Order: sequence, then structure tokens, then C-alpha cells
Amino acid sequence: MKDKDLIVILFYKFVKISDPEKFVKEHLKFCKKLGLLGRVLVSKEGINGTVSGTKEKIEKYKDNLKKDEMFSDIVFKENSIIEMPFTKMKVKKRGEIVTFGEEVNLENTGEHIHPKILKRMYENEKPGEDFIILDARNDYEYKVGKFKDAIHLNIKNFREFPKALEKIEHLKNKRIVTYCTGGIRCEKASAYMKENGFKNVMQLKDGIINYGKNFPDTYWEGKCFVFDKRLVSEINSKGDTISNCEVCTKPCDLCRNCRNLNCDRLFISCLNCQKELNGCCSKDCLVEFGKQCTEKALRKQGRRIEGLKIY
Ligand SMILES: [Zn+2]
Ligand SMILES: [Zn+2]
Repeated sequence: MKDKDLIVILFYKFVKISDPEKFVKEHLKFCKKLGLLGRVLVSKEGINGTVSGTKEKIEKYKDNLKKDEMFSDIVFKENSIIEMPFTKMKVKKRGEIVTFGEEVNLENTGEHIHPKILKRMYENEKPGEDFIILDARNDYEYKVGKFKDAIHLNIKNFREFPKALEKIEHLKNKRIVTYCTGGIRCEKASAYMKENGFKNVMQLKDGIINYGKNFPDTYWEGKCFVFDKRLVSEINSKGDTISNCEVCTKPCDLCRNCRNLNCDRLFISCLNCQKELNGCCSKDCLVEFGKQCTEKALRKQGRRIEGLKIY
């Protein structure tokens, strides 16, 4: 890899940050000085980020962060990219670095297991019977890629996880391995599960991205959804597709948000259908999107619609 090659890193660390405001200010300044693009969330509970740049700049960023004692053991998950997946550098203060909505004891999370342990479980045991593999992510993420025989809770966002656990009450005595993209969600999810009667909970260390680095083309199926411009990241060398266009049902893993602002649903749509429905998820949304465009154009001219009249 050359210094000019582009990479994206994913990282988190739960650690007490006493003055998040100050941290945000200094960190943003530093990232901008380096010319990085990405998103870093900071709260009293720690830091969670995705940052992209040339290899040279990312190395500087990593070295600098590790120099701080708080982050000396932080793990960076790295992927090569062709294009920068962000257009801005944002460092923001949040209540939580990953929004869960429930207090959990982060000293009591599920045991971290290395990808090789999970691989060995697949090789020697029957998923769904001897152990349960639980996807802690959202429904649209699960659609484009998942571990073989994984179960999921059909949630739209991570805040729904605690309530949705009711669906798998009957699995409380099973050995369960949870996984998510980079591991951060599993920290909270596994701790919450343990606190709520799940007896044997493990979490995949550093998530899907780390598993894919170690063992591509094994037990991961499809691609991995990521929260930046790329929307999906390749895990396997073959580039397999397990999802279908939600409009015409052809095999496809292109995700996008519906352009109807009142819908804004993340859905899978092929380029052809995106063109036909103008980036909307249904004909109804296309009609509504059309109205929104007209209203916006009129507003620019200082005019408005009321009922069927234009003023
Ligand atoms: Zn289609
Ligand atoms: Zn829609």
C-alpha cells in the first residue's frame, strides 16, 4: 500500500471523557488540520468514529490518538477504499456514542470472542441448535449481508433492541454470539442481555469488518452495510449478492433512502428502478416527492400552494 492510497478506519472506545465539549473542539481542529473526512461521536462514555484519508494522514491520526493514554489500546479496523466516503469532517458531542436508550453496565459485557473462535464453532457445531448467532443490527443492514443461519430482531434502529429481545426470550439458556459492524453495538447489547437473564452471551470481537479481514469467503454471506457514502463494503472476494431490488426483485444490493422526505426509508433498489421511480421506494412516494419538489420551487419564488390554488 502506498502513502497516497485511501483508507477508512472504524474505531470506538468506552472510556470516561470528563469534558466532551473541549475534546470535540480540539479533535475537530486536529482532524481538519490533517485534512481528514469522516464522523466522530464523543460523549462522557467515550468515542466512536469512522474517519477516512490517505494512508499517510490516517497513520498520523492513529499515532496521535494512541499517544493519549486513554486511547493507547484502541483498535482500528481498516479498509482500503477507492473514493472518500465522506464529504465533511464532523466531530459531534452526543449523549451516547451509540444510541441505545438504556443504561447498561459496560464492565459486564459478553465475552469477546476472536473470529477464529466463531469460525471454529461453525466448523464443529450446528448454528441455530448448538449455538445461536444473533445479528444486533438493523433490518436493512441484515438484508444485504449476514452470518450463515443468523437470527435478527427485525429492528429499524438500535434503540428498539431492548424491547425486541422479548422475541427471543425462549433462547435465554442458549449459547449466543452477537455481532455487529465493528463491535460497538454488541458491547451494549450483550451487557443488556446478560442483565436480563440471558445466561451465556458472547460477542464477536471487533465485528464483521474484523471477521472479514481474517476469514473472507467462509461464513459471511453477502456484503456489509456501512454508514457512509459507500453504503456497502465487500467482505468476501467473490462479491456475492444475497438481496433483491425491493421494486423489481432482481438480485441487487444497492441501498438508498427514499427521496420522499416523509418516507426517507432505506431500501434496496436497482439503478433501473431508481431511474424509473426517481429514487423513491414506491409510486405513492414518487407522487408525494413530486409535490414536495413543486412546493420547494414555489417557496423559492415566494409563493405557496393552498389546496388546489397557487398563490
Ligand atoms: Zn429494480
Ligand atoms: Zn418511500
